[in-house]
This record gives sequence, C-alpha cells and structure tokens, in this order.
Amino acid sequence: MKVAIGQDSHRIDFEKSDKKLVLGAVTFEGERPLLANSDGDVVLHAITNAVSGITCKNILGKVADKMCENGITDSKEYLKEALKYLKENIVHLSISVECKTPKLADKMELMRESIAKIMNINASQIGITATSGEGLTESGKGNGISVIAIITVE
Ligand SMILES: [Zn+2]
Repeated sequence: MKVAIGQDSHRIDFEKSDKKLVLGAVTFEGERPLLANSDGDVVLHAITNAVSGITCKNILGKVADKMCENGITDSKEYLKEALKYLKENIVHLSISVECKTPKLADKMELMRESIAKIMNINASQIGITATSGEGLTESGKGNGISVIAIITVE
C-alpha cells in the first residue's frame, strides 16, 4: 500500500469575466474563475500531483505546460496523463479544499461523481471536505482556492 499527497493553489481572477470557475471538472456558474493558463481546475491539479506522488512522474510543470502550449487547457487531460503511469489500484482519494467562495456543499456530490468518472473509480472512494479556515490564509480570505489531495493505492 502507498499513500501520496498533492497540493495546489490558484489566485482568483478578479478581472476576467469570460472564463468560468471549474472545480473537479464541475462548472460553477456565476463565480469568479481562477488565474491560470489552463482552465485552472485547482482540485484536479492537486489530484494530479497526488497521483504523481505515487508514480514519481510529474505532470504539472513541464509536461502540462507543453500540453497547454499545444492548446490543451482542460485539466482532465493532465490528470489522465498522470494516471497513465499509475500501475496500482486506487483505494481512496481524500480532498480538502480551502476557500471562502464558492460554497461547495451543493456541488459536492456532483464533484465526487465527476472526479470518479475521470479516474474510473466509484464516488464512494472519494471524500471531499471544505473549509474557510476562519479566513486565516489568502484562500480563506477569498483571494484564491487551495486544495490538498491524499491518494491511497495498493
Ligand atoms: Zn494548478
């Protein structure tokens, strides 16, 4: 059995209005997007890093940047690229989101199902929690979103 951690943070884009906020490949209408060359799906980025933590094949950075240059801005593709190197079976995925907005409660089930579909596992293998951390960090203050993902494989 192996356990790995992945983390990512993005600032909220207060200027762009044509881009949409995407978390776990679920679109949040009416919310400010995140600053990124890609779609800025910080949840999928943290998961991608967690998978890389197992495989030791880093995707975010050089590989994803190259994909982005070639027009691939959908973060699902970065996660799928990371999963190509994963030989073990996924036991569980735990995701912790820190942000002031959006409120995730209403979309939590959708996110679990969406992530499960991308990773070819059951939604019951994915746990998501969210906190504003009492506004102690920039993300908690509403300036960004931070995510930690922990993956367990066997
Ligand atoms: Zn990112």
